[in-house]
Amino acid sequence: MAQTAQEAKPETPEPEYSKGKQEVTSSNLSLVSESNNTPVQSKKKIFENWSHNIRVQPREYYEPKTLDELQSLVARSSKIKAVGSGHSFNCQAYTDQTMISLKHLNRILDVDRDNRRIRVEAGKSLHDFNKEIESYGMVLPSLGGIDKQSLAGACSTATHGSGLKWGTLSDESSIFGMELIQDDGSVLELRADRPSDREGLMAARVNLGVLGIIYAITFKLEESRCLELRSKPLSLEEAQDQGHYLKNDHFEYLVFPFTDTTEVTMRNRTSKTPKPHPIIDFYHDIFLKNWTVDGLNRCNANLNLKRTPAFVKFLAGMIPNERKVSMSWKNQPGPRTVRFFQAEYAVKLGLEAEIQQALDQLTASLAKSETFFANLPVQYRFVKGDQGSFLSPSLSTEPICYINLSSHLSYPNWQTFFEEAEKILMQYQARPQWGKQFYNNPVIQGLYPEFEAFMEFKKAWDPNGKFTGLFFEKLVAGEKSPYIVK
Ligand SMILES: Cc1cc2nc3c(=O)[nH]c(=O)nc-3n(C[C@H](O)[C@H](O)[C@H](O)COP(=O)(O)OP(=O)(O)OC[C@H]3O[C@@H](n4cnc5c(N)ncnc54)[C@H](O)[C@@H]3O)c2cc1C
Repeated sequence: MAQTAQEAKPETPEPEYSKGKQEVTSSNLSLVSESNNTPVQSKKKIFENWSHNIRVQPREYYEPKTLDELQSLVARSSKIKAVGSGHSFNCQAYTDQTMISLKHLNRILDVDRDNRRIRVEAGKSLHDFNKEIESYGMVLPSLGGIDKQSLAGACSTATHGSGLKWGTLSDESSIFGMELIQDDGSVLELRADRPSDREGLMAARVNLGVLGIIYAITFKLEESRCLELRSKPLSLEEAQDQGHYLKNDHFEYLVFPFTDTTEVTMRNRTSKTPKPHPIIDFYHDIFLKNWTVDGLNRCNANLNLKRTPAFVKFLAGMIPNERKVSMSWKNQPGPRTVRFFQAEYAVKLGLEAEIQQALDQLTASLAKSETFFANLPVQYRFVKGDQGSFLSPSLSTEPICYINLSSHLSYPNWQTFFEEAEKILMQYQARPQWGKQFYNNPVIQGLYPEFEAFMEFKKAWDPNGKFTGLFFEKLVAGEKSPYIVK
């Protein structure tokens, strides 16, 4: 029997941990791979995240290929962190001790067609998962801007897309079960159909990688579908009309700084058949939205920063009218070759216009003082409130708007912009998206009414702090997170 949340629940007297089925034995402690009988070797690895602000050579690095190897590694390490695909903008995945990647633990383990549930090893990428489950007629319905993330990494930070019918990938409507490797290598299994696991799952769904190593996740899925995407320029006032997010399945918009122009994107379920247009898709998704934006920003940042407002107006004039039909998992995420920096916040729906006005004022004043020139659009996305995870930024009974700030990496002083913008957003009780950059650790715990409940599980499940890294240390201490760790 794997350990259940009821057994592991942080209650007094001392929780009774029954380490069962997946116990660590002397044979797997010796770190010998069951599959080929060869020792699992530590590799030399320099880890660098996607935005290149976090870089470290961990003391040991492993890529376990079996559950047995994974359990042994966890049991014998004193400090261990799993890295997904390194797409967090902050030091979430940083450790200079033992780092592991579950990239080889990527198999689908069980398929329950009747209930549309799939149990999968957590090292699989979102892209590979969606591609594979299409053959079962299932899909993760609401996805973000990319799908390179690992399932474990994406869920640990509450990754989300846009669409008021859905929440984040870590919501209770999305995650049915989780299997966590605990301090001593045993497996803790949590299931939504066991009432005693309810609180454990609320802690584990958005876990910041600090409750154990996620070995497997059981997702609740929806029927696969095609979406028709329509994208076009619209004035800010028109984009802010709430009719859009109410009547479209997925709606989001980008506000170009120094302009009144937005790019709105709607995606709706359709019975139309997907028609591939590789050349048009290449033109929009790679040439225009990546290469052109990247190349022009590099030139502008290096030639004359003061021209940025005019330059951004020029970019806003290039917003295409786009229309395409494809499978939902193909037309929500897209390629990102342009490198940028991001900070994102969850706020109550309805505050968008007021917040955008305040951000416009900040943008104008930073440009006037020549401190920072806003160069990439602010993105607005909308999700259902989440009541199933203690640390979800969308923890609410009300719908939520996510506001996403970006800067191309070529511009100086982006930190000033993000810090100043965060001060504005904090006035609206904004909660940071955990995978992005944020600064105000001293107040962040206060924004999460269930932070203490999460900490109770943290203390009970990780009494020796084996899974705590720099990111969580700073968060709990209320100390400012570093922008750059190298
Ligand atoms: C270009 C880009 C676009 C993005 N778009 C979006 C978006 O549209 N919406 C959105 O919400 N976010 C978005 N993000 C943020 C991203 O989804 C999150 O940062 C996500 O956590 C990254 O997943 P990862 O696999 O790279 O995890 P990592 O960044 O490698 O790790 C994230 C956390 O998960 C933990 N972790 C990883 N694997 C395990 C495991 N097996 N067990 C326990 N803990 C584990 C790590 O220790 C760490 O704490 C984007 C990021 C980038 C770079």
